[in-house]
This record gives sequence, structure tokens and C-alpha cells, in this order.
Amino acid sequence: MQIIGAFEVLPKLGVFDLDYTLWPFYCECRSKREMPSLYPHAKGILLALKEKGIDEIIYSSWTHKTDHFQRIHSRAGVPFNSMLFLDDENMNIQAVSKMGGVTSILVGDGVNLGSLREGLTQSSRNWNASQKNKQKWLSKYSNKTDTSNPAA
Ligand SMILES: [Mg+2]
Repeated sequence: MQIIGAFEVLPKLGVFDLDYTLWPFYCECRSKREMPSLYPHAKGILLALKEKGIDEIIYSSWTHKTDHFQRIHSRAGVPFNSMLFLDDENMNIQAVSKMGGVTSILVGDGVNLGSLREGLTQSSRNWNASQKNKQKWLSKYSNKTDTSNPAA
């Protein structure tokens, strides 16, 4: 998928809501035997990200998202700013985007190439911004050690 190739920095983890993000229904409304079909771009996007070595987690709409992000963060050690989250509910996007730099994208009518591109763009911007901040802190810190150590 060309879109993904255009980005130097990719998220480490993609987190997808299921209902109305990957497929166009609430799964509870369907019979279990039915295998509901995904939005047209959803499968391609999931496969392409996987091919790039990006882990993926899919949640049903009923799970408590922020709890899960905390758990992933502490168990797998994935930094929040390396996570990309896509959901169709603004409430979830608002809640998760407050968590220290998770790139959170509201999808309109299911996930598509547009929302993927938006997500990857914001994600790499977040990453670059955090690297710049890190550099700032590092230079601040090293300046301080320089002045506190005049012999150096
Ligand atoms: Mg949903």
C-alpha cells in the first residue's frame, strides 16, 4: 500500500474499534453464524499495517478504551505516542486523545484510506514533536551540567 510507504516513522501499534469502524454494524445485532463483511478498505488496511510489522488490536465498541490503552502501555511497553487509534465515536476519541500522545482519529463512515493517511500523518507529526521536545530537554540538561561543572 503506497500510503504507508510514504511515511518514514510509523506507529508501533494500531488500535481499531470494531463496530462502525471496521464493519458497518454492531456485532451484537447479528447472528453469530453470520460472518459480517468489513468496510471496503478495512481488510487491506489491516493487512498492509501487519505487513509493515505494526501490531494490531481490535476492540468491540463496548470495551473501556482508556483502560486498555493503559494496560497495553504498561504491559507491552508501547509508548502512547507510538499508538494509532481509530474509532467512530467522538467520545472515545476525546477520552483517548487525552492520554499522553495517542494519535486518535475519528472515522466518519468506516475506516478508509483517507483516515489511514490522516492517522499516519498525525502520528509522524506527534513523533517528530516529541523527538524535538526530547532534544530540547537533553540540551537543557547538558547545558545545566556544563554550567554546574566549570572544570569541564
Ligand atoms: Mg464503534
